[in-house]
Amino acid sequence: MATHDVVIAGGGPAGSMAALILSRAGKKVLVLERTHFPRAKVCGSSLNPRNWSLWQRHGLTERFQRLPHFDIGGFTLKRKGIPILRHSFRKPGARAVERSTLDAWLADEASSSGATFQFGVTVQGLTATHLQTSAGEIEAPLIIGADGRNSAIGRFSHLARPSEPCGRVGWQAFIDLPNLDDHIHMNVFPEGYYGMCKISSTQITTSLVLFAASKATPEQIMARYLPQAAPTAWKCMHPISRKPWDVTNGRCWLTGDAAHVLEPLTGEGIYSALATAEMAARHILSIDRVGVKTAANRYRRQHRRFYGLRMMINALAGWSLTDSRRSMRMMQALRYWPSAAAQMVEWVQGAENPRLQEG
Ligand SMILES: Cc1cc2nc3c(=O)[nH]c(=O)nc-3n(C[C@H](O)[C@H](O)[C@H](O)COP(=O)(O)OP(=O)(O)OC[C@H]3O[C@@H](n4cnc5c(N)ncnc54)[C@H](O)[C@@H]3O)c2cc1C
Repeated sequence: MATHDVVIAGGGPAGSMAALILSRAGKKVLVLERTHFPRAKVCGSSLNPRNWSLWQRHGLTERFQRLPHFDIGGFTLKRKGIPILRHSFRKPGARAVERSTLDAWLADEASSSGATFQFGVTVQGLTATHLQTSAGEIEAPLIIGADGRNSAIGRFSHLARPSEPCGRVGWQAFIDLPNLDDHIHMNVFPEGYYGMCKISSTQITTSLVLFAASKATPEQIMARYLPQAAPTAWKCMHPISRKPWDVTNGRCWLTGDAAHVLEPLTGEGIYSALATAEMAARHILSIDRVGVKTAANRYRRQHRRFYGLRMMINALAGWSLTDSRRSMRMMQALRYWPSAAAQMVEWVQGAENPRLQEG
């Protein structure tokens, strides 16, 4: 008998959400997380309103509301620092919560539901029966890969495609800038783009994506567009985008960024990580009833549909922003169609896809 029914690699939003659902359903769950929480994560930290339905479904709304946060009221888009759109969200609910706070809270919720967390343990390999980790071998009959965009589980299980070169690099820093309003501010320029929003009354979080070929540094971009800001240390992330992978082989189930990396600009990554973890957990719980093959097929289908239906804007944004000249032209065009741009922003902010609930 294995000590744990499910072993989860990665304790980010996807890993903790899956752990919470499975342990509440009576499964013995072990989460292996290579860092120690609270830990920083390269992320804009903005949560769109669709996340509320997830908190509600799992009885987490009240405790989420108590986390330190900043409410986001709209979206301002600039091209080379010149505003081309200023849009106030039609509905409230968008919120910035620092990732170290959000992820530590979710891990606490999962622990309180019965999941065991081992921090500082890195998954290093996979055999037919065990996971090889920095703390030794662990029996693992069923595995969730929630270990982010460079997923080790994806590679070891061969669910991942061989990695392709990505010409963009992501950066993140916290900056003291008390005068910023309550909008997400995005600026697209020839070397890439950045998004920033307030995270507290004095601090903002800035996510910057740069074309590697441009050789520009975060300091140069900030000196050009935000000379008054003195950022603290920049944290780096690579790759920014990646082709989607197969999501399960019946034993390993990929969730969140491990399965599908989204364009960071639209701020949908955290929601998608939580939502796909919820899906995977539900299908894993159905294995006793429908068998592993059917459960896996259903997860594959639902996962595809989730990204297919919801992510058209994300795909368009990704296409626009992977090439310097194209991104400049798209921003130029949006100057003449501010209402189309505003509509896209509302779609991204919009209600949860009801088909997410279907099995
Ligand atoms: C520049 C940038 C800005 C972004 N801004 C936003 C935003 O504003 N809003 C938004 O919703 N999304 C944003 N995203 C996307 C968002 O950060 C991700 O989609 C989200 O973090 C995915 O969650 P996850 O749980 O799948 O993976 P992660 O959050 O990456 O968590 C994976 C966890 O696995 C652990 N891990 C990795 N490898 C191993 C291993 N071998 N063994 C054990 N543990 C391991 C890691 O330490 C980590 O804690 C942004 C992304 C970037 C790059």
